[in-house]
Amino acid sequence: MSKLIITCAITGSRIQKKDTPLIPISPEEIAESAIASVKAGASLLHIHVRDPKTEIGTQDRSIYERVLSLIQEEVDPVICLSTSGVPGKNLDHEKRLIPLELGPDMVSFDAGSMNLGDSLFLNPPDFLELLAKKAKETHVKLELECFHSGMVHTCIQMIEAGLIERPPHFQLVLGVRGGAPATLNSLINMAAMLPQGSTWSVIGIGSAQLQMGIHALLMGGHVRVGLEDNIYYRKGQLATNEQLVKRMVNLSRELGRDIATPDEARELLGLPPRMNALDSKRR
Ligand code: ZN
Repeated sequence: MSKLIITCAITGSRIQKKDTPLIPISPEEIAESAIASVKAGASLLHIHVRDPKTEIGTQDRSIYERVLSLIQEEVDPVICLSTSGVPGKNLDHEKRLIPLELGPDMVSFDAGSMNLGDSLFLNPPDFLELLAKKAKETHVKLELECFHSGMVHTCIQMIEAGLIERPPHFQLVLGVRGGAPATLNSLINMAAMLPQGSTWSVIGIGSAQLQMGIHALLMGGHVRVGLEDNIYYRKGQLATNEQLVKRMVNLSRELGRDIATPDEARELLGLPPRMNALDSKRR
């Protein structure tokens, strides 16, 4: 089995201080939590940024830049920026594509439209094609977020059509309302569909974060933890990102699987070392 890539999803776009005081909102808080997570063992960061006034997600370029520069002063993880915008607020396509201009290693690619909790999450075919095309042009790898098996199928069709580059990296999202349930059966079925040469990781929502993560650990997949998907360490006890990463590091080591460093994660994902603009700026 390969070393384990732990992705930490630092903040997402929806959870606010009233939900947990531990959710990072300001650029400084997001960067501080991200740096602690990398030092704890996360090799890949999935990043959204927030409007400090409303606390809700934003695609504001300057906030993204501030967060990235603070993080990259201290640590050098694989950077994946979100293109999801704010579910329920249907941002125009151009705004959602802003992260591609910031030189990340990866951006998220939500592989279809769906009901997401009480909102509509719109990812129509023309947006998916535009995002895939821009990612190819800018040499940014896609994090293929699939909320059910139909989305896996969509990605496979786009890979076969040459719209999405190989090797693909899938992020299987289990347990959101409107998507596939967080069960071992869902995970096995979706993982079995993936093309040869793929890497994959799992997101379990809420208390399923730990359970799905352990299944993926044993199956040879990779794992995403973090407050975007789950705010509790255990029932009644709020978590920090760092704590959630540390727990996964400990579990993986106990099960005999070593943790990938950022450079090892780049290699496992087929990313060229230090490929992007931010990297070259930093050197
Ligand atoms: Zn996200």
